[in-house]
Amino acid sequence: MATFYDTHAHLDYPDYADDLPEVIERARAAGITRIISIGTDLDSSRRAIRLAERFAGVFAAVGWHPSNAPQAPPDVRPALRELVLHPKVVAIGETGFDYHRLPGAKTGDAEADTRYKQKQADLFRQQLEVAGEAGLNCVIHQRDAFEDTLALLKTCAGKVRGVFHCFGENADRMRRVLETGSLVSFTGIATFKSGQNVRDTIAATPLDRFMLETDCPYLAPVPYRGKRCEPAYVKEISEVVAATRGCPLEELSAATGRTAAEFFPKLT
Ligand SMILES: [Zn+2]
Repeated sequence: MATFYDTHAHLDYPDYADDLPEVIERARAAGITRIISIGTDLDSSRRAIRLAERFAGVFAAVGWHPSNAPQAPPDVRPALRELVLHPKVVAIGETGFDYHRLPGAKTGDAEADTRYKQKQADLFRQQLEVAGEAGLNCVIHQRDAFEDTLALLKTCAGKVRGVFHCFGENADRMRRVLETGSLVSFTGIATFKSGQNVRDTIAATPLDRFMLETDCPYLAPVPYRGKRCEPAYVKEISEVVAATRGCPLEELSAATGRTAAEFFPKLT
């Protein structure tokens, strides 16, 4: 059986409170041998680490999601510097920019938008700094903020790379990400009827420059669309990605596994 990794899951979310051992067992049975649980604030990051301690094959990324920026302390570096010492913390994130719901959208308060973006930028910079110190890479979330995200990431070129998770941009933007040394990863959107643009990007991405993920509990692939997603469904995603590229599953398995092992140096 071809094996795969789920490089972006939110196993600490309450969606799995009742049946996490079964969720992880189903992933194993489906050939999903590694899962990275991604932190969205410090509490969530600490929960991800506890899950990594509890389950073999589960690893953690620690960080602060841009949408949670308003609740963040002024400086997340001291706490993150401690968390990255854990042997199963394989990345910083998720971090980045999210301009999808700006606070001034309804009120027309442009200054509120500026402050909000500034706080996201401060947090993103702090996380890139800790990643650089720790020799780790970053899991990048960006929504409606591609140019700002790429520009800030470029300031760390040569030190820290990012994986643009849940990549939904066109092939041109994919190439601009890869030019900076960063990677992309694809979710169950690849299986959606409406996902042709993502499949076009998948077909254009070099085999050694992308990874697979669920972003569970969100974005369950076909035929589970609309239900709670879980890491086992990387299987369905991998099948569509392999078919889209006309590449054998075994080859996709080997390439994405190598890419993840190289990008997440502590993933064992
Ligand atoms: Zn996420």
